[in-house]
Amino acid sequence: MMSEERSLNFIEEIVEEDISTGKYGGRVLTRFPPEPNGYLHIGHAKSICLNFGLALEYGGKTNLRFDDTNPVKEDVEYVDSIKEDVKWLGFEWANELYASDYFDQLYEFAVSLIKKGLAYVDDSTAEEIAAQKGTPTEPGKGNEYRNRSLEENLRLFAEMKDGKYPDGAKVLRAKIDLASPNMHMRDPLMYRIKHAHHHRTGDKWCIYPMYDFAHGESDAIEEITHSICTLEFIPHRPLYDWFIEKLDIFPSKQYEFARLNLNYTVMSKRKLLQLVEEKHVDGWDDPRMPTISGLRRRGYTPASIRDFCERIGVAKRENMIEMALLESCIREDLNKTAWRRMAVLDPIKLIITDYPEGKTETFVGENNPEAEDGEGTRELPFSRELWIEREDFMEEPPKKFFRLAVGNMVRLKSAYIVKCEGFTKDADGNVTEVHCTHVPNSLSGNDTSGINVKGTIHWVSVPHAKTAEVRLYDRLFRVEDPSNEDGDFKEYINPNSLQILPNAYIEPDLATAIPGKGYQFIRKGYFTLDKFSTPEKLIFNRTVTLKDGWVKK
Ligand code: ATP
Ligand code: MG
Repeated sequence: MMSEERSLNFIEEIVEEDISTGKYGGRVLTRFPPEPNGYLHIGHAKSICLNFGLALEYGGKTNLRFDDTNPVKEDVEYVDSIKEDVKWLGFEWANELYASDYFDQLYEFAVSLIKKGLAYVDDSTAEEIAAQKGTPTEPGKGNEYRNRSLEENLRLFAEMKDGKYPDGAKVLRAKIDLASPNMHMRDPLMYRIKHAHHHRTGDKWCIYPMYDFAHGESDAIEEITHSICTLEFIPHRPLYDWFIEKLDIFPSKQYEFARLNLNYTVMSKRKLLQLVEEKHVDGWDDPRMPTISGLRRRGYTPASIRDFCERIGVAKRENMIEMALLESCIREDLNKTAWRRMAVLDPIKLIITDYPEGKTETFVGENNPEAEDGEGTRELPFSRELWIEREDFMEEPPKKFFRLAVGNMVRLKSAYIVKCEGFTKDADGNVTEVHCTHVPNSLSGNDTSGINVKGTIHWVSVPHAKTAEVRLYDRLFRVEDPSNEDGDFKEYINPNSLQILPNAYIEPDLATAIPGKGYQFIRKGYFTLDKFSTPEKLIFNRTVTLKDGWVKK
C-alpha cells in the first residue's frame, strides 16, 4: 500500500505541476484503453492501477475506453472479461466508452484534414508504400497520389467509405514530411479499407482508422488530460501532437512509462492466445496464466495485485520483475486473511494403538490466529486412525529429524503428543502404517505432561476425512525470459507446471469451503477452491507455497 514517505513518481510530478499551473483547470481525467482482443494480464493491472490510482489521488476520474478499431480480432467475450477484471481489481470507471462510437466524428476529422490539404488518398500497395518510405537514414520519396487535388481526395475518401473499393486498394494518409527523421511522421496511414464485420458497428463501416489516428483523437473527444501509455509509443508522440494541433481539438497529452515484464512468463496477448488455442493451458483463466482471471482462479486477491503494482512503481526504463515479488505479495496478504485448515496431500495412516476404537473427541481450532478475534473456530474431530503426510515419517531418519521415527515424539496439531512405536510395510517395502501411543494429559491448551517436543505435524481423522483433488502449480516456463530465447517460446514451457493429487484428505470443515476465500493448509501452503469444484468433487488450487522455494541458488 501507498506509504506516506514515498516520493512522487514522474507522472505524479507532471500531474501536480499541471494542477498547480491550472493547465486543465485543475482537472484530472485519465483513461484505461484496452483493445478487446484478449484477456487482461498483470501488465494491464499495472496500467489500471496507475490510471485509476492517479484519478483517485487527485480527485479526478478515469474512463474505460475500448480501443476497438480493429474489427477482425475483437470480440464481446473480451469486452465482458475486461470489465469484470477491472471491477474485481477494485476500480470504478466514470464512463464505459468505445473508440468505435467515435467513427463518425473521426471520419469528420479526416475530412477536415483533407480540406486543409493535410491528408490524401494513396492507391499504392502496402509494399510500395513501405519501399517509398525510405530508411531512418534516407528520406522517403513522394508519389503521384501525394499531389491529388482536395476535390479528388474528398471524392475518393467518400467512395472508400461507401464501399467502392476492395481491401487494400487505397489508404488515407496524413501529409506531413517524407524526410522526417521520425519514420512515424513520413505520411502515416490514417485509414485503411477492411470489409469486415465489427462487434459493435456491424457492417456500417468498411474503412477503419489506424491506432495513431484514433487514439489521440479519442482522448481529445473525451477531454482526457493525461494519456498514459507504454514506452514503445514515445516515437508516436509527435504524431499524436500533430493531429491534435492540426485539428485544433482538446490538447490531451501523452506520457510514457515502462511496461511491466515479469520473469518465467510471457505477457503479450498474441502469445497468451497461442497458449490457449493450442491447449497448452486450460483457457485464459488457467491458474498458471499471468492473466487477471488466471491469478483470480489461482487464489490471488485484488489487494495483493494492487500492492504488487504499488511496490514495482512507475519507471521510465524497462526492467524485469521477479515472479517471486508477486508471490511474496499474495503470501503476505493471505498470511493475514487465510483461514487455517488441515489437509494431508500425500497420505499414510497413523494408528494410535492405545486410543479406544470407536472413540471420537472433538477439538476446536481458531480460523485465523493472525486476526485479533480469531475469526471464529471450527471443529476438529479426532479418532484412533489418522491420515498424516508420508514425509512426516522416516524409517531411517537423519540427525535432527524432529518428526516421526521409531522412538520419536511429536505433537499432533491442536491435539495430543504421540510417540512412534513401530510401523508396517507392504511386500514392495512401502510403509503402510505408522503405530504410535499417545500421552493422555498432553492435550493442546491443557498440557500437564511437562514433555517438550520439537515437531508438530498436521493430521486428519480417517473416518471423518473428506477427499479432494489438489492441484499444485509451478512456473509455466522453465526459463526466465522465454520470449528472448532461440526458437519458439513454447519450447520453453515447463512440462511439470501442473501436478494433480487426485486423492488428498481434508478436514471435514473444508467440505463447505467458501469460493474465492483463501485457506492455509497448515505447513502446505495457501489454497483456494477451483471454479470447477463441486460438493461431490472438491478441487483446490494451490495459490502459493508458504515459503519461496525458488530462492536463487
Ligand atoms: P499486447 O501487446 O500484449 O497485445 P497491448 O499493449 O496491445 O498488449 P492493450 O489492450 O492495447 O494491450 O493495452 C491496454 C493498456 O495497457 C495500454 O495502455 C498498454 O500500454 C497497457 N499495457 C499493456 N501491457 C502492459 C504491460 N506489460 N505493462 C504495463 N502496461 C501495459
Ligand atoms: Mg495495444
